Amino acid sequence: MADQAKELHKLVERYRIADGKRFRLKHCDPADTHHLDAEDKPRSKTLLSSSVSLLAELQDKLFAQDRKSLLLVFQAMDAAGKDGTIKHVMSGVNPAGVQVSSFKAPSAEELDHDYLWRAWRALPERGRIGIFNRSYYEEVLVVRVHPSILQGQKLPPTSLTKHIFRDRLRDIAHFEDYLSRNGTQVLKFFLHVSRDEQKRRFLERIEQPEKNWKFAAGDVKERGHWDDYMAAYEDAIRSTATEANPWFVVPADNKWFTRLVVVGAVVQALEQMNLAYPTVTAAQRQELQTARALLEAEATAPPARPGKRR
Ligand code: ATP
Ligand code: MG
Repeated sequence: MADQAKELHKLVERYRIADGKRFRLKHCDPADTHHLDAEDKPRSKTLLSSSVSLLAELQDKLFAQDRKSLLLVFQAMDAAGKDGTIKHVMSGVNPAGVQVSSFKAPSAEELDHDYLWRAWRALPERGRIGIFNRSYYEEVLVVRVHPSILQGQKLPPTSLTKHIFRDRLRDIAHFEDYLSRNGTQVLKFFLHVSRDEQKRRFLERIEQPEKNWKFAAGDVKERGHWDDYMAAYEDAIRSTATEANPWFVVPADNKWFTRLVVVGAVVQALEQMNLAYPTVTAAQRQELQTARALLEAEATAPPARPGKRR
């Protein structure tokens, strides 16, 4: 078990970006599986399931302690495996302690507010884990790649400056800093799939009838902007990765590996929170003893006598 924890720790550290300034996306290989290969899959499955169990234990303490919370932000190109990864991370945890929110193109009501408004409303309560399937980062990703979207955001003309994306990245860094100083740590995951693997998965969605529903024709068009997206991701990560609120650039060409790294990162973050069940005060202990005495003093009902009608 200790060996497993060490192995997972090493794995997670490799993909953790806590100092954005030195980050370069070109140094990251989407097909990387550390030293694990297909033959290690059974072992990594064991590692994954024991990590999922550990996650459940830690979440129980997080909930009982009711002080801190964890926000997991998932960003990726289409078909990188966000949904499947979220499903895995959450497979062992108590649903009462988790809140998942998906962010699509903003609604009319959302456009009537600043861009962080809808994120604020979905933040996890104390003791909970919040999951954002896409997030406020779309404002410096899809909107940056398609700046015409800004025209529909009802911003005052003075806000539409040349440095709007640099300003937004600063807003986001401040927002996350504020959150972590107030008890919510933000872990950001970029599921880094390669363009070739995305193509393979799109073709699979077209060819397999049970996957047809996942296919959206617009996604193929979006591939055409691949390099712009990668540049936007790199800048977002460079501008917002900190020790308190790190990014994880997770290789996503192999789904089993993606899941292992993500679950490992969540477990590690919870472990570093030093969670513990709340301790009972002397007064509470006294209360427990009184309750026990009351329960024990209750008269036990006489057993019903056989054959006798009441
Ligand atoms: P999947 O395709 O796996 O079901 P998804 O997250 O891609 O999941 P979709 O409904 O396909 O969900 O896409 C949501 C779309 O909304 C994405 O293209 C995303 O870029 C877009 N979006 C999210 N936030 C914003 C935003 N603030 N402004 C404009 N577009 C946004
Ligand atoms: Mg989609």
